[in-house]
Amino acid sequence: MKITDVKPFPVRVGHRNQMLVKVETDAGIHGWGESGVSGRELAVEGAVKHYAQFLIGRDPMRRGALWQEMYRGQYFEGGRILTGAISAIDIALHDVAGKALGVPVYELLGGKHRDYVPTFATTSAPLGPQMIEQGKQLLEAGWTAFRMSSESVGIETDRLYEPRESIAKTAGWFIKAREALGRTAVLGVDYHHRLSVAEAASFCQMMPPGTLDFVEEPIRDECPDAYEALRKMTDIPFAIGEEFSSKWQFLPYIERGLTNYARLDVCNVGGFTEAMKVAGWAEAHYIDLMPHNPLGPVCTAASVHLGAAVPNFAWLETFKSPWAPDRHEDPRIFPKMLELEDARFPVPDEPGLGVEVNEAALTEPFRFWEAPHLHRRDGSYTNW
Ligand SMILES: [Mg+2]
Repeated sequence: MKITDVKPFPVRVGHRNQMLVKVETDAGIHGWGESGVSGRELAVEGAVKHYAQFLIGRDPMRRGALWQEMYRGQYFEGGRILTGAISAIDIALHDVAGKALGVPVYELLGGKHRDYVPTFATTSAPLGPQMIEQGKQLLEAGWTAFRMSSESVGIETDRLYEPRESIAKTAGWFIKAREALGRTAVLGVDYHHRLSVAEAASFCQMMPPGTLDFVEEPIRDECPDAYEALRKMTDIPFAIGEEFSSKWQFLPYIERGLTNYARLDVCNVGGFTEAMKVAGWAEAHYIDLMPHNPLGPVCTAASVHLGAAVPNFAWLETFKSPWAPDRHEDPRIFPKMLELEDARFPVPDEPGLGVEVNEAALTEPFRFWEAPHLHRRDGSYTNW
């Protein structure tokens, strides 16, 4: 079997762009992958087109070796754009391999550990009583773990964000949320890299013990030493890693005990080939995976196969909820995708990923989008 084409599709699906990749072969088998570098899809498209130049004519079954060639062929190895492209291609190659062998992708990764993959959801309402009401709706619908949304930490409508004001308001509402939702709910917050070490420490210290089960990415990740400093100021578990683009970026966070849930994104970290290595490394440190999954059904399917194939798994992110349709899906584009049942994804048993894309329906072109640029009251820039 030989690869005959590697086609990037930066397209609009629902309310966001998705960066899909199709790998075609001379055996008539094709595979789909997705990149997770949201906001820079056209850069990933360029990288995919470059990789296509040396992938066409190659054996798609040699996916581990092709990963090495894509990653190290650059000489200036690594980086999020290149690894986003490698991730999408690697996922598509696994879809091809599964279909060629007549097995689900998790069979290529060591076999099935579980029959369904549990998920966590996220509230969408701003800080306040409606946020707590949504928490109750999630519990009733079968979710045991959920996160208060990053929109729920005090961003004002005019794109102003003042960390200290956010911390005070957020802490108060989270204490109320825990009282209202009881002890069985696993409750977290995503701070989306918005805080400094001191601000994050203040927030965590305002939380009475048992209020929060995890804090996701309170600060940026370039500096593991900063996380080490923060680690000494709080005992709340951290969930870190959605933007990491290699096992080497996970290395200090796993080995130094800085993350307690690995927020690995199979579409960013380097596809299945790299994700399985991070999963094994995390397993050695008794850390569960809690994969990032904010985009399309191809990423969801890939994450379900990953979740099925590892022993150390907590919850997969989903944007499904009882109060609104999932805006990442379009059945015209995805005639076949994995369906959530009772807040969990049953593990599929058909060959490949179990998701199909109607290439003819990829007609809605990419639309320029930039994440909101937030400012503080003094005019200085601060992270979205
Ligand atoms: Mg996050």
